[in-house]
Parts: sequence; structure tokens; C-alpha cells
Amino acid sequence: MRGVGKAMQAQGQWSGSQLEARELDSSCINDSHSGLDGRRGCWRNSGHALTVVVATNVTFRTPSAVDGNRRSVTLMGEKTAFLVTFHGVRGSTPCHGDDIVRYGGNTSCVSVLSPDNQPILFDLGTGLRYFGRECLNSGTKFVGTCLLSHSHFDHTQGLPFFSPLLHEETVLKIHGPAQDDGMSVKEMFDKLVSPPLFPVGLDRIPGTIDFIDTVDSDFMIDRVAVKARFIPHVGPTLGFRIEFAGKSIAYLSDHQQPLDGSHQLSDGAIELIEGADLLIHDSQFTPQEFQQRATWGHCTAEFAVWAATQYGVKSLALFHHDPSRSDDALDARLACLQGIGQQAGCHVFAAAEGMTVSL
Ligand SMILES: [Zn+2]
Ligand SMILES: [Zn+2]
Repeated sequence: MRGVGKAMQAQGQWSGSQLEARELDSSCINDSHSGLDGRRGCWRNSGHALTVVVATNVTFRTPSAVDGNRRSVTLMGEKTAFLVTFHGVRGSTPCHGDDIVRYGGNTSCVSVLSPDNQPILFDLGTGLRYFGRECLNSGTKFVGTCLLSHSHFDHTQGLPFFSPLLHEETVLKIHGPAQDDGMSVKEMFDKLVSPPLFPVGLDRIPGTIDFIDTVDSDFMIDRVAVKARFIPHVGPTLGFRIEFAGKSIAYLSDHQQPLDGSHQLSDGAIELIEGADLLIHDSQFTPQEFQQRATWGHCTAEFAVWAATQYGVKSLALFHHDPSRSDDALDARLACLQGIGQQAGCHVFAAAEGMTVSL
């Protein structure tokens, strides 16, 4: 979600001269400038040469090609490690209109299924409601884990509308960051989901929700290895990386680019992104918009492509689209950025509501 505010003090150090995005098509890249500011999870220079990687065997399913039960593991081939479905891809606020029907208007929510592991959700935006409907269609309770990036509305608003929580055997674990003042994830949700902001409190929900305050850490969800790292945004924000059966997915939905528009990553972001098979990354702004909104906690799609190509990512899903971005505008941006990714062996696509990716 957009955060309007003053630049905050950097909480760490970075060093060295900044890396120019000279390998990339300059028509799509904002100029780099000197002088930096950062938030939690400071940026640092990579010093890496552009990495050329072989495209991964990621395959895509459009909504029209997906059957009525996207949760079914029968969709997975024998060697499929992850089945990733985008339920909400929009940043900041849900939106609708004839000009966004193809990419969709719900906010951040991605489900990840893998064989013999419980489902994993990235974030609880308004897209969660649609994932919940699919769970009920399958006739089962939901037992799974959410990796919550942060507390902004566009990542949390879907929780009270997640209908499997009406099933008393549903258990949802939520790993997310506590606030800087010590407010826990549970306290934050209790505040969000209670009168007068919501008709009832979370204690009236039949299902079980376990909240786990999470910091920089590595842990397991069944056989899926999870890495959580703080990344720069507005307020405490985590990015995640999950790995299973030799495949990896990195999720950095809201990621502040250095305020001067340059291209650098924090140590934590590098740990998450490096060599990922699929990177789902903030792509909210154009370079022109970023100049006006540099302190809002986000980045350009060009920055996402730079990060992906610089750190050997095989496929990049542009995510957290600005609510003002029309389908046609996104297509035009994508056409330009795909060419840049292709030069470095990275497949770039724009995440769309209902799209399923298997890897
Ligand atoms: Zn957001
Ligand atoms: Zn946010």
C-alpha cells in the first residue's frame, strides 16, 4: 500500500559506488543518481556482473485453461514442485473497470500448492476471498500457512472475508512482522477486525488463526524451506523465499527502491532473490511516477527487471500493479520490459488474477 511520508533514517549501512543499470535498455530505465536513503533492510551495491541464465521450464495456465478446482494437486505433473495461482495482483487499493478486466483489480494474494505440503499463501489482500471460494468448492476445511509481508490494508483486508474460517476445523497460521512499537501481528489484526471497523472481532470466528511474529529467520512449513528477511518499504515489511524439490520462489510485493531511483538491493533482498526460479516483485511505478512518489515505499517495474536479471532469476512476475494502470498500459510496459529480460535469459510476465504458474 502506498505510504505517504517522509524519508526515514536508514537502519544500516551500505557501501561502495552505485551500480549503473547500463546493461539494460536505457529507454526503459530511469537514470541513476547519487545519494541514498533507506529504511529497514538497507540497500547495498551488488558489484555483480549481469548474470545470463537459461530460461526455466515454467509453464503458464490462463484462467480459461484452468479447471474449476485450481487447488487440486492433480494439476501437478510428477516433477511439479509448485503450483502458484494469483488471486489478487493489484497494489494499494482494490479497483475495477472495463480497462482492467484482464489483469484484475483485487489486491495482493497468491496461493502456492506443492505435493504433500500444506498450502502456503502470500498475503491476505482482497484476492483471498476468491481463493476461499475455491476452498469451499472443494468441500474441505483449510489448513495452511500465510506468509504475510506487512500490515497495510491491501495485504490484510481479505482475512475476515476468507470463508473457510467459518469452518471450525480450519487452521490458518499467519507469519508476519510485528510493528516497531512492539504491537504484535495478533494485536494488529485484532485492531483491524473489530468494531467499529468490522462488525465482529476475530474471537467470533469459528476457525483457528495462529499469529506468529516473525523476524529475519529460516524455518520449515512441512518440507518447504522458508526464508524471511526484512526489506525496505514503509513500516516493518518482510520478503520471503520458499524452496522445495529444487525449485524456489521469492516474494517481494512491496519493495522500496533507493529514493534517488538508483538500482541497489539490501543484503536481505539479495538473499531472497538470488537464483530464484520465480520472483514475484513489486512493479508499481513507471520511472516518471517514481520521481513524484519516491517515498511511497515502492519501485519501478524497471527496478524489478534489473534485480531479476542482475541476480539470475529465471522468471519474473511483475506484481502489485498500480490501481491506475490499465490493461493496455500494462501490456505496453510489459512489451518493453520483456525484451530487456530476454537479453539476460529471464522470462518477464505481468501477473494477472486467475493466472496459474507451475514450476
Ligand atoms: Zn501493498
Ligand atoms: Zn505496503
